[in-house]
Amino acid sequence: RKALLEQLKGKENVTKSGRKINVYANIGNVSDLGAVLKNDAGGIGLFRSEFLYLENSDFPTEEQQFSVYKQVAESMAGKKVIIRTLDIGADKQVDYFGLDKEENPALGYRAIRICLTRPEIFKTQLRALYRAAVYGNISIMFPMIISVDEVKQIKEIIAEVKEELRSEGIPFKEDVELGIMIETPASVMVSRELAKEVDFFSVGTNDLTQYTLAIDRQNNKLDRFFDPHHPAVLAMIRMAAESAHAEGAWIGICGELGADLELTQEFIDMGLDELSVSPAMVLPLRNRIRECD
Ligand code: PEP
Ligand code: MG
Repeated sequence: RKALLEQLKGKENVTKSGRKINVYANIGNVSDLGAVLKNDAGGIGLFRSEFLYLENSDFPTEEQQFSVYKQVAESMAGKKVIIRTLDIGADKQVDYFGLDKEENPALGYRAIRICLTRPEIFKTQLRALYRAAVYGNISIMFPMIISVDEVKQIKEIIAEVKEELRSEGIPFKEDVELGIMIETPASVMVSRELAKEVDFFSVGTNDLTQYTLAIDRQNNKLDRFFDPHHPAVLAMIRMAAESAHAEGAWIGICGELGADLELTQEFIDMGLDELSVSPAMVLPLRNRIRECD
């Protein structure tokens, strides 16, 4: 790894034919920042903010969240930091949310569905994010989107948050890059319309595989059927990429498939602009990109 790092340091991630691909890292906690820096990632492509909620016995306050987001933004010193808003529910349960037990949690009340029905929780996180964005290059990403209407509702809530911060005289960044996760088949099918509303897409291949193949990603008994290389999954990614580029948005992958070196060439052919992987996969992927056309 050390030799690979030395060899790649300061070099751009370009294919043999000269296309540049951004290689970012996924993190789930501030403690992962060391590994991101050590592996020379170009940015953070997915910061799962759930740990703030999972590690607390009550809702994390605006100040608590602000200080974490600010720390991450500052540590990355101007590099892109994509923070995903809370993705609680399904496999990630938190007692103080008071969520009912559900028959089908993966198809249930989770992620953006909680945020849009309990705007006070959502607004606290958005306030912290817009305030922290003053200290670095923060983008905000929303999980589990299925419709254009949801994105419009999110934008209305953001407008309210900004108005509130402005009237309270609290500093915040006016224009923050906004993106959505593409992790439901519905979002792929309406991706052309969604791309008109946002700056970027990031494909969550873990959930996209689950929902496209109708296979519970948590059920080990189904491992032999859970195939992220399924042509249906790859066709979804290709369609989302075409939609993004047709509307001037950029697109990356932040699900585990992004680190699959057997698919790197195919992702480049599809036109993906960014791949975000675990810190340990950053250097091998950068190396692989240089071998691709
Ligand atoms: C995904 O679904 O691919 C993803 C990146 O999000 P998570 O694994 O946190 O659901
Ligand atoms: Mg997901």
